[in-house]
Amino acid sequence: MTVNDRAIYMDNSATTPLRKEVVEEMLPFMTGNFGNPSSIYEIGKISKHSIDEARRKVAYALGAEENEIYFTSGGTESDNWAIKGIAFANRNKGKHIITSSIEHHAVLHTCAWLEGQGFEVTYLPVDKYGMVSPEEVRKAIRDDTILISIMLANNEIGTIQPVEEIGKIAKENRIYFHTDAVQAIGHVPIDVKKMNIDLLSLSGHKFEGPKGCGALYVRKGVKIEPLLHGGAQEGRRRAGTENVPGIVGLGKAIELATAEIGELNRTLLELRERLIKGLLRIPKTHLNGHPKQRLANNVNITLEYIEGESLLLLLNAKGIFASTGSACNSTSLEPSHVLTACGVPHEIIHGSLRLSLGRMNSEKDVDRVLEVVPEIVQKLRNMSPLTPEEYRTT
Ligand SMILES: *Cc1c(COP(=O)(O)O)cnc(C)c1O
Repeated sequence: MTVNDRAIYMDNSATTPLRKEVVEEMLPFMTGNFGNPSSIYEIGKISKHSIDEARRKVAYALGAEENEIYFTSGGTESDNWAIKGIAFANRNKGKHIITSSIEHHAVLHTCAWLEGQGFEVTYLPVDKYGMVSPEEVRKAIRDDTILISIMLANNEIGTIQPVEEIGKIAKENRIYFHTDAVQAIGHVPIDVKKMNIDLLSLSGHKFEGPKGCGALYVRKGVKIEPLLHGGAQEGRRRAGTENVPGIVGLGKAIELATAEIGELNRTLLELRERLIKGLLRIPKTHLNGHPKQRLANNVNITLEYIEGESLLLLLNAKGIFASTGSACNSTSLEPSHVLTACGVPHEIIHGSLRLSLGRMNSEKDVDRVLEVVPEIVQKLRNMSPLTPEEYRTT
């Protein structure tokens, strides 16, 4: 099935469609320009130059230097590399890591694995909006803390963390600071120097670039072990023949996303507020995440007496594509660890709906969603034995 013209795609936090301009940049590297960037003849050189250009674009978008950008296979690899790489390069200094309880599984499962390797991890709680307190970070620091990893923006509820303040605390204590900025690129302006970030993960497919291609920013001077060993690619820090079409596409996508960040945010913010206002008119509905400090594209609500999966299926039947939370949770029945950490009551946690907006969405889409969701919710509530009499219509 393809997304046809009438379908409404509101799952941009799971992935985004490739932009036309990005596809056009990538195509030559899937046809004529197939050279290995490590080769010295013409088509190899073209590949090499194109990678260098993409690296410049990523560096520019982050306020970093070119030689601080390393291409990876995506957000998951970048998170794994940052955390394992710092842990193993600095374990003579200490074995303690600080993170939050609402990180992406790429961070949480990596930390859990490190616990099995003898490291100790503090998982900080969040408030009801999903916000990490910088003071809690400060209090969690020990003599043997080597890394603080706190995401820039959450993928389920969109809450934007006080990363600059946390980075400052890390710096004062000479502890490395990593941030998973996968959801933030194209939505939150980033300056790694100003924000005191030592390592930053990003992923192409979350900002209209290709899947399977990401990057890790590593500040010059940071002590980190490679994750992949082999050839001399990426300054001998990330072996393997480069994903040239992916890297070229990622470069173009980040260039466009960064240039248009203000304009896109203004549009999305209007759509988001319209959507939230409309959805909260449905009785027994609650907004998850921070009301203001949140991504302009994120709407996450909990509907009482509703099973999120049923809602998604009925929305799908109407050509509306959404999610209950993170893509990883949509195939498991585990309650969302993010909503759990925010203190959303156990009985209603399964009734969550995430609508994540993108550049392709319009006011018309929002109005269509606001027409369809209340109808489906009422239908499901009428069917559920849990719904009190006053919220039934039949
Ligand atoms: C999507 C996502 C990832 C994983 O990125 P992939 O490129 O899909 O591996 C990591 N962290 C966050 C916050 C994400 O949203």
